Amino acid sequence: MFLETLKTIRLHKRQSKLGMYHTFKRKNTVYVFKCDCCGMVFLRSRGRVDPARATNDYKHVCSLCDVKKYAQSIGVKMRKIYRTDASSTHSIGDVPVS
Ligand SMILES: [Zn+2]
Repeated sequence: MFLETLKTIRLHKRQSKLGMYHTFKRKNTVYVFKCDCCGMVFLRSRGRVDPARATNDYKHVCSLCDVKKYAQSIGVKMRKIYRTDASSTHSIGDVPVS
């Protein structure tokens, strides 16, 4: 679940060729997600996430959970809703396309 977008500022120091220390800052945008599998809140930097996926149209799973296991459980749930499990007699042509 997508929660919010945060902006962070990091301060760094570098030494100039004359030995003076100068501070400079770098802005960073991070997305806050809640894992749809375990419920843990986690952060991802904007560069690592497709901006189109920063919505609730997609499921989000943290790095500790098994993504493939979660996707499979969702598939089982949806097959039960649409009653298209392996024992069904529906052909692919009968499945409504939305
Ligand atoms: Zn998780």
